[in-house]
Amino acid sequence: MHTLFDFVANPLFAMLMILFGPLAIVLMYRAWHGDGRSKMKEPTVAGGAANAMVQANGLYARRFGLRELPAQPAQRLAVVTCMDARLPVEQLLGLRPGDAHVIRNAGGIVTEDTIRSLLVSHYLLGTQEFLIINHTDCGMMTFTDAELNARLQRTVEKKLAMPFYAFRDLDDNVRRQVQKVKSHPWVPAKVPVRGFVYDVRTGLLRELVDPSKNSGETPKKRVEH
Ligand SMILES: [Zn+2]
Repeated sequence: MHTLFDFVANPLFAMLMILFGPLAIVLMYRAWHGDGRSKMKEPTVAGGAANAMVQANGLYARRFGLRELPAQPAQRLAVVTCMDARLPVEQLLGLRPGDAHVIRNAGGIVTEDTIRSLLVSHYLLGTQEFLIINHTDCGMMTFTDAELNARLQRTVEKKLAMPFYAFRDLDDNVRRQVQKVKSHPWVPAKVPVRGFVYDVRTGLLRELVDPSKNSGETPKKRVEH
């Protein structure tokens, strides 16, 4: 009659343990503790990520030290940029809390609403410089407005259409956003508007020189609003 000892002493069992033992230990550890990443990226409960943020805010408020910060941006700067999660705007520009207005949307596009914010920023809160920052690998370069409109119409089965301001040429897009701001009748000519591309692989900003100030570049076609 075979005993448990005979089974454990079996060479086949020993070989299986050597081959699959470490894997079994890793799988058991993950099942018990989770792998750390999945908790952040895929909250299992609806609202899980937001709940964690609310908890984090409780800790933040306990050490809150910005009570005296004025609403007027200290650097007198407004930045228009993409909502992309890879752009830590304050960090990449060396800004501290209270330094600048940051206006974000998909693509870093100057829409009517962006202009609205810039006008409030300048006339009511004293900003004197505007930056437009787009970035490499932007999701807005991966589709066309027609494609996304068609996809949403199929998905929600409602006949709607709206501009998404998708684009193909990154540099050209930045220049067009700069022109949209500069050419707005309520934006004073004395307010500098500068355009940049942020590289998500290197963290570096590259400035796009205004073609009207640099004869070396080919002037782009007139901007349409
Ligand atoms: Zn983007």
